[in-house]
This record gives sequence, structure tokens and C-alpha cells, in this order.
Amino acid sequence: MRLFECGSLVPGCEWHTRADNDAEIVRRVVEHMRVTHGETTIRENMINNIKVRIVDESKAA
Ligand SMILES: [Zn+2]
Repeated sequence: MRLFECGSLVPGCEWHTRADNDAEIVRRVVEHMRVTHGETTIRENMINNIKVRIVDESKAA
């Protein structure tokens, strides 16, 4: 299982998501960025920032 914690990208945000694959995580995170953080334009470097912060849950603290 893969895990993304929004707090690693947006300090103070406690939202997180889990999925079997990175593509699904990215899809959910982009939606969260739009709805919660008002990011109406998702740039490619935002996608990269998300991808580098997705971790294997077994390795997460
Ligand atoms: Zn967030």
C-alpha cells in the first residue's frame, strides 16, 4: 500500500490518502488540492512534488 500525507507538502494539513498505486494517489491528491487548498491550476511541478512524497506505508512512521 502506498501512502501520501498532505502535511509533507502543506504544513499543518492532516489529510492523507492510501491506494494501491501512485496514479490513484496523485488523482486523489490533485482533487484534494483543488477542493481544500484552492489550487485551481495544478502544475507539473506540483505533480512531481506529490510523487516524491508518496511512500510505502510499511516504511512510514
Ligand atoms: Zn491538504
